[in-house]
Amino acid sequence: MLAEIDTWVLDLDDTLYPSSNGLADQMKALIRGILSRHFGTDDAGARRIQAELIAAHGTTLRGLMTTEGLAAADILEFEHHIDYSVLRADALLAEAIAALPGRKFVFTNGSAYHAEQALARLGLSDHFDGVFDILAGQLIPKPYPESYRRFVEQFSIDPSRAAFFDDLAVNLDVPEQLGMATVWVGGEPAPGTAPYEVVAPRRWRVWELAPFLHSLTAPAVRPSTM
Ligand SMILES: [Mg+2]
Repeated sequence: MLAEIDTWVLDLDDTLYPSSNGLADQMKALIRGILSRHFGTDDAGARRIQAELIAAHGTTLRGLMTTEGLAAADILEFEHHIDYSVLRADALLAEAIAALPGRKFVFTNGSAYHAEQALARLGLSDHFDGVFDILAGQLIPKPYPESYRRFVEQFSIDPSRAAFFDDLAVNLDVPEQLGMATVWVGGEPAPGTAPYEVVAPRRWRVWELAPFLHSLTAPAVRPSTM
């Protein structure tokens, strides 16, 4: 895998850090708070409206802008109420990413502000060549093809030499169609000691990101199948 890859594209939430720290729950609760206030409904009502907005518009953000005429900045203001202190510096991951050859990008359905805050807490701010956020994607989120197309154009990426990492398997379909190697970050560990499994040609599943990335650049343990 390593020999052919010179561009590393990583999702942020639930990929560069696990959802178990509660940050995602905080964000979901804050977003439901926006919906509750705007629509004058309770939490259950907010959940229902959110599901409808996501189904019709891809994200709550785009749904609120499209159907309610709200401004992105006013909606994204909730991010300033997130307690990012639940994120801890991940030295092992920082070291693994630093050792990867070539360019590295964060591709998130969140905002650049959210990415900056999270990457700073994780100790990864200096490890990426760029962040592609939901505003750079003109509010079109993964997994819509337009989102990836803008990303590839903005950073002049050769998909055949790129690897795309995401915790949502659905977000890997378009990268795969574009010719990228894809890595699904998540799920229960498979039996054995390897931090990954080969799912298909150029498709891996990884449950521990840092050890997997380390295995790509540490010659002694580099998997022969890659
Ligand atoms: Mg994610």
